[in-house]
Amino acid sequence: MSKEPLTILLANPRGFCAGVERAIEIVERALDKFGPPVYVRHEIVHNRYVVETLEAKGAVFVEELDEVPDGLPVIFSAHGVPKLVPAEAERRKLFYVDATCPLVSKVHREAERHFRDGRKMILIGHAGHPEVIGTMGQLPPGSIALVEDSAQAAAVQIDDPKDLAYITQTTLSVDDTSEIIDVLRRRFPGIHGPKQEDICYATTNRQQAVKAVARDVDALLVVGAPNSSNSARLVEVASKLGCKTAMLVQRAAQVDWDALAGVTRLGITAGASAPEVLVEEVIAACRERFDVTIEQITVTTENVQFKLPRVLAPAAAPA
Ligand code: SF4
Repeated sequence: MSKEPLTILLANPRGFCAGVERAIEIVERALDKFGPPVYVRHEIVHNRYVVETLEAKGAVFVEELDEVPDGLPVIFSAHGVPKLVPAEAERRKLFYVDATCPLVSKVHREAERHFRDGRKMILIGHAGHPEVIGTMGQLPPGSIALVEDSAQAAAVQIDDPKDLAYITQTTLSVDDTSEIIDVLRRRFPGIHGPKQEDICYATTNRQQAVKAVARDVDALLVVGAPNSSNSARLVEVASKLGCKTAMLVQRAAQVDWDALAGVTRLGITAGASAPEVLVEEVIAACRERFDVTIEQITVTTENVQFKLPRVLAPAAAPA
């Protein structure tokens, strides 16, 4: 039986960002250098496949430091950690490597600078997300008020808001965040903000790529994990643009083929923590059912790379 035609619009950029690549490389190099087991506090990035691949190489994922035995190395995830985590590692004389994305660390430094300057602070972000816990944990409790949406921005009460600043989670919706900032600016006209967006380049670019695809397809698949903030935002961005069938899938086995019945143009993208191999798996599953043609939709190209921590960087070549 001949297959129905399906045009897949592949969004570019998609998938791994520089912060995720660096975090995974940190775990791999630590395994090479120290040998297994290497402990990792929290999922190194929000992706089950990545975590299981590293587990197979000898990484052990734990929730808290008290699960790490004395004398073994531990790595902190890309999302960042509250200050008391490295402090506790030092107290226990654990060898640790911090895989916090440099763009998250930049927000931490911003928060510290505002605090030093005596400013009150509002963090725009999602309650309970590890990045938000890490950012709020850079400062004493009560130093930062969390705002999740425009309604909370309209209601938040700040004692003495004369000198106020906002910072943001790096993986938010660019459009929603801009609305929230507008509300804050209307309420607190002198509020200080970052010179450049705290939302990172990878989040911004992946949302722009989805926008370039979403209006031109019948359905869109975002390859990513349900706890990945930037992946969830890609689904929302597509839905807001009128894409009625925008779905998050972790693996090809989760694709709801009934929901794709009658679809002739399908968008595919991936969150910043989803490896390309999973996108390829989804495309291969499409090829089993459809006569697939691929179109690449590219809004920009990325060449960002972050340095590894010195302790794991490749040794300098002899002179
Ligand atoms: S999504 Fe952005 S902030 Fe998060 S790890 Fe990637 S580059 Fe860093």
